[in-house]
Parts: sequence; structure tokens; C-alpha cells
Amino acid sequence: MRVGIVADIHSNAEALKSVLERLVDTDEIWCLGDIVGYGPDPAECIDLIRLRSHRCIAGNHDLCVLQEIDASDFNPDALEACLWNKGHLSTEYLNYLRDLQLTIQPIPEVILAHGSPRNDIWEYILSSWQADRILSESKPSIVFVGHSHIPLMFKKAARAPIETIPLIEGEALSLDKEVKYLVNPGSIGQPRDGDPRASFMIFNTDDYLLKYQRVEYPIEVTRKKMRHAGLPISLADRLIYGM
Ligand code: ZN
Repeated sequence: MRVGIVADIHSNAEALKSVLERLVDTDEIWCLGDIVGYGPDPAECIDLIRLRSHRCIAGNHDLCVLQEIDASDFNPDALEACLWNKGHLSTEYLNYLRDLQLTIQPIPEVILAHGSPRNDIWEYILSSWQADRILSESKPSIVFVGHSHIPLMFKKAARAPIETIPLIEGEALSLDKEVKYLVNPGSIGQPRDGDPRASFMIFNTDDYLLKYQRVEYPIEVTRKKMRHAGLPISLADRLIYGM
């Protein structure tokens, strides 16, 4: 089975559509949360994901829209965009978000989580020591996370120190079934690694090949929509720089 791994879409329909065009021949799409928040197209993004995603979990922005978490940790711009997103979703869409789980095991070897698989929706996993701790505790050998908007990959073999695996765009990495991995595919709708292109991965569950990919999308269309919606200008501007 070929699976598209996507995360942190953040109501950016232009970015999501550009990625989905690259994923037309995949069997499933696994979404790691934060479909909404920040951007101008929450309902369209939910529709696009509902249509294609066989597996999707909730992120902190999805829960913020539902007002199911304490939003005091959000910065003012993020909170303003969250409330704008909430105001542009009907009950049907809010119910879709409400039904999302915090973690899913789409296959026994894989767990999907937004922050970390310990049900911590807020945890940013950026360092090898965090990845080491999570992989030591994890039963599934592959942990896919989102939340940081930074594509990264860690590898932990038994009795070996944790390793950071460099991600090379377009190159298929062959995973070892005896080894554990923690992987973040990066963000579709608001990349923060200095590359403004949408970030995603393709995972083949049969031959264990994982490919990291980036795709350009019409950033100006998204920015224009954000300006018309009156969303915070800083959120629109950061899309140019991928920061
Ligand atoms: Zn996010």
C-alpha cells in the first residue's frame, strides 16, 4: 500500500491541492492533524481531506477551533485565526473535527500522533533525546508526528544510539523493519524550515520505502485570500519565507 503522509495543512487549500495532485496514485492518505487554523480555507481543506484521507487525527488547532483546549498558549495571531476559522465552519464540519482521535494505528507497525504518541498534543519533538525517549516507549516501530512544521527523521536501532537521518528531497529511503523510526513529514500549509514549498512524504508499507517531497503552490493566491479575510498579516507574510 502506498500512503501519502501529510500534516499541518492549516486551512491552506492551495497548498493541499498541489500536494494531493502528487498523491493521486496513493492508496491512502494519513493526516497528522491541524487541518485548520491560520489560513483562509478551513471548510475546503476538511472537504479535501475527508474525500481522500482514510486516516486523520486531531491537532491542537483543530481542538482550538472546537474550544476543547486551553488556548492561552496560542499567540494572539494564532488565536485570532483560530476564532476566524471557527466562525467559518458549520456544525457539520465542527462535528467532523470533534470525531477525530488523538492517535491512530493505521497498521500495527505505525502510530500517528500530532505532538507525540503519549497523547501530548502540544509536544514539539525536535531533538534526538526527545525522539529517543519516545521510541524507547513506543511499541509500533514507526511514529509519525506533525506539529513542529519541520521535516525530520530519527532512527533507533536496538543497543545503538539514536541517529538523525538527513532527508533528501525526492530520494526514497529504505527503512529497516527491525529498527524504530520517528518521522515528521513537515507542513503542507505553513512550512517553518525556511523552504516555503509544501512538505509531505510517501510511504510504501510493503517495501518500507519512504520518500520526502516538496511541491510549489500558488502562495500569492493564499496570501490574497488571507488579506481579504482580514486574517493577521504576519501569518500571510510568513508563507513567503517558510518561517
Ligand atoms: Zn500546526
